[in-house]
Amino acid sequence: MPTFADVHGQDRAVGVLRAALAHRRLHHALLFAGPGGVGKRTAALALASALNCETAPGEGCATCATCTRITDGIHPDVITLAREGAAQIVPIETVRTQVIAAVGLPPHEARERVFLIDEATALQPAAANSLLKTLEEPPARTRFILMTVAPDQLLPTIRSRCQRVAFAPLGAAARRAVGGGEADPIANAAEAFIAAVDRGPGAPGAAIGLAQGAGENKLDAAAVIELAAVELHARARASAEAGDIAAARLASERASILLAAHMAVNVHHGHGAVSLEALALRLQRGGQ
Ligand SMILES: [Zn+2]
Repeated sequence: MPTFADVHGQDRAVGVLRAALAHRRLHHALLFAGPGGVGKRTAALALASALNCETAPGEGCATCATCTRITDGIHPDVITLAREGAAQIVPIETVRTQVIAAVGLPPHEARERVFLIDEATALQPAAANSLLKTLEEPPARTRFILMTVAPDQLLPTIRSRCQRVAFAPLGAAARRAVGGGEADPIANAAEAFIAAVDRGPGAPGAAIGLAQGAGENKLDAAAVIELAAVELHARARASAEAGDIAAARLASERASILLAAHMAVNVHHGHGAVSLEALALRLQRGGQ
């Protein structure tokens, strides 16, 4: 199904891709960078369709045989490198058998063969290194779309060979729109987190309960914190536009604290509950 029209809230990223297609200067290796759940994979499939669509080249139609098979994941020339095992890595064997062995031959039927890597930090170091030469000297009619939530954790040699396309964080409402009405636990947790902070120091229990719940549900604390910061930035803007400078300043300060915490949590995976709890208390104290 995905065409560029299905990528919501990412006008800039989609604009970059459309312009590159229109001017025939699409880079052979793209790095889609941005938070989880904001449309990177949808955009990647839309781009694969735009490159290969039979009826609407450059845009994708969602209904021709090519677009349909790309959506269904069964097009022989649009290949997602699978992650394997408990560690969810892309092993070097996968790169050897699915990429290196294939690129010596032309695509089966596509105008442009597309390799998708859903989370490029999942490439084993050896797998990443084995890709370097192919990324540097791209075979004809072949594109790579690497996606990641943490571009800074990629090998610099991988980053430098790709053109980065930034995907913006989305607010809670936009995330739900993207999810097509599916429950979005990250959005729920971020909103509950802000609500608990709003209730102030009189209600620290709510924040602690939320933090513990987030930990039990194995929610990605970094994603919850990032989304809460996005929401607070939006609140700061709205307050400033309404002339409430004090509220704008408070929301903006809290968003800054959250963004600093977001960077710290990204470095220390696995302590989400503790981080959220401490953070909520700090925001409540700081905001009073
Ligand atoms: Zn089509």
